[in-house]
Amino acid sequence: MHKLRIKTLARLALKAVTSLSGLVTLTLLFATGAANAVVSPAEGKVLFTNVNVWDGLADDATPGMDVLIDGNKVVAVGPNLDATGATVIEGNGKTLMPGLIDMHTHLMFPMGLPAHENDWMPATSGAMAREGFDIYMNQGFTTLRDMCSTANFAKAVAQGVIDGPRLYSSGACLGTTGAHTDWAPGTARLGDDYNHKRTGTSYVVNGAEEWRAAARQNFRDGATFLKIMVGGGVASAFDPLESITASPAEIRAAVEVAEQFDSFVCMHVYQDEHINIALDNGVTCVEHGFLMKEATMKRMKKEGIVLSGQSFVSYETFKDPAGIPGFGPEQIAKGKAVNKGADDMFRWAAEYDVDMFLGGDVYTYDLIPQAILNVTIMDRWFTPVEALRASTSGAGKWLMKTGPKNPYKDAQLGTLQEGSYADVILVDGNPLNDLQILKDSDNVQLVMKDGRIYKNLLD
Ligand SMILES: [Zn+2]
Repeated sequence: MHKLRIKTLARLALKAVTSLSGLVTLTLLFATGAANAVVSPAEGKVLFTNVNVWDGLADDATPGMDVLIDGNKVVAVGPNLDATGATVIEGNGKTLMPGLIDMHTHLMFPMGLPAHENDWMPATSGAMAREGFDIYMNQGFTTLRDMCSTANFAKAVAQGVIDGPRLYSSGACLGTTGAHTDWAPGTARLGDDYNHKRTGTSYVVNGAEEWRAAARQNFRDGATFLKIMVGGGVASAFDPLESITASPAEIRAAVEVAEQFDSFVCMHVYQDEHINIALDNGVTCVEHGFLMKEATMKRMKKEGIVLSGQSFVSYETFKDPAGIPGFGPEQIAKGKAVNKGADDMFRWAAEYDVDMFLGGDVYTYDLIPQAILNVTIMDRWFTPVEALRASTSGAGKWLMKTGPKNPYKDAQLGTLQEGSYADVILVDGNPLNDLQILKDSDNVQLVMKDGRIYKNLLD
């Protein structure tokens, strides 16, 4: 893998200290509680010349364009822009497009769920989560939505204390005892403390009042939306896929709190009946959903519900669930059922043009490269531009619906237009013609986030 231009925390910390003008300033900063970011904001202008621009929305890219970045925003897109005062990057006809957005990752347990329950303290899990950032950036992902995650970690990224992609956290996932979010050991007793709770990655809660309190705790910690476990899961021990694991009152409690923060609830769910119960109770975002029926996809279109697609893991990985390390007979059976449903579900999503974004649903370091395969596999059901919209503007549209807790609301996310954040990637070739070129990270030649260059293979 090419070495990324990500500064080490030590260097950044040194820079922050030397940039402070003295002890008085330092004292004032701490006294007022101001954020003392270590990642310096982007300064100055960068001009990309002669690029094939795809804005994240249009059916086609426009060749022969220049794109001017000023600080952390895109300020102009057009032919022959004025280069005065700008650092010029020759695009040579390559494609400049919005940075990719992965809407379903699990950064907080890269050593696997049992290891993070039994072996690693919260601080260690956080340090490990940071290590996944470079692998995502190298593939062209500049924003991640971290599911079942320490919201406080995303807050540190937003404040520039930790450097990496923009991060949106669900906070701890909410689920009842024995549901998909119950990652305590098999010997745990009702009410026992558990490490995932201390880490803030999962809450085992029962009854509407406990759900409401847990949801509020998440937003307090910096969550921007909620993730709830409505039905059984594949990679978990106590919850058959057929089981519904939340009551209508519990679901409504989460929805009510999310609405108080002008945000929304995403649900982990597979079964058709469970999806419909949750939609009846106000959930607007379906994660997985692989066992849904065609009528439910039509309902989602009609009601503006978004589908969060994990196509690679459902369709490709679960082709042979017996080969997945740690999967017992129960998980193998669940994996097979999911693989069968995924093909139909994505076909219907394309047919009914349902709102969609994509996420790789990966957690260990060695699986992170599958995040891009989760995008490139979509040309089985969708056109390349549809798959890329889901991975850029389609995702950005929903991230911008996360209300006052959204840490990135001064510009558009997932588009490359005047007024967008300067989160762009330069691709050798045109992925609108051939999505598969994104599989080779060497084709993603430059990655810029917030106006700062994180990867550059051009020189
Ligand atoms: Zn997941």
